[in-house]
Amino acid sequence: MEEGVSMIPGLSRVRVLRSWGGVMDMSMDGSPIISHTPIGNLYLNCGWCYGGFKATPASGWCFAHLIARDEPHPVARFLRLDRFQRGYAIDERGAGPQPNLH
Ligand SMILES: Cc1cc2nc3c(=O)[nH]c(=O)nc-3n(C[C@H](O)[C@H](O)[C@H](O)COP(=O)(O)OP(=O)(O)OC[C@H]3O[C@@H](n4cnc5c(N)ncnc54)[C@H](O)[C@@H]3O)c2cc1C
Repeated sequence: MEEGVSMIPGLSRVRVLRSWGGVMDMSMDGSPIISHTPIGNLYLNCGWCYGGFKATPASGWCFAHLIARDEPHPVARFLRLDRFQRGYAIDERGAGPQPNLH
């Protein structure tokens, strides 16, 4: 509200009943990361942007597969961390979040 009022003073008269906030773990292409890392036995499941709650069953399934077999689940095979290093960002053609807008 403080930031909003600094931009739009009229907001100070708005009666806010409820608000929430938190950190959005945005990835640079708006798609999540389910991946092994260069550090042995360190796996990542992050970068879910706005969709981490609703994706939990599928992401958990794919993450368990990755950890148990040390190879990506076929559904999550493109969600590797090193895609940023290799220049293979995932293009969801506007269907996903747009981190460049934040
Ligand atoms: C306001 C808001 C609304 C959202 N609404 C939706 C929605 O409607 N639907 C939806 O699907 N998703 C929504 N999301 C996104 C969803 O909340 C996230 O994608 C999801 O919570 C990510 O889960 P996570 O386990 O990867 O990370 P997190 O839930 O962020 O968990 C990370 C945990 O690591 C802990 N941690 C951090 N650093 C350390 C450290 N150094 N040592 C130990 N622990 C540490 C943190 O305390 C935290 O508990 C929303 C997010 C926000 C902020």
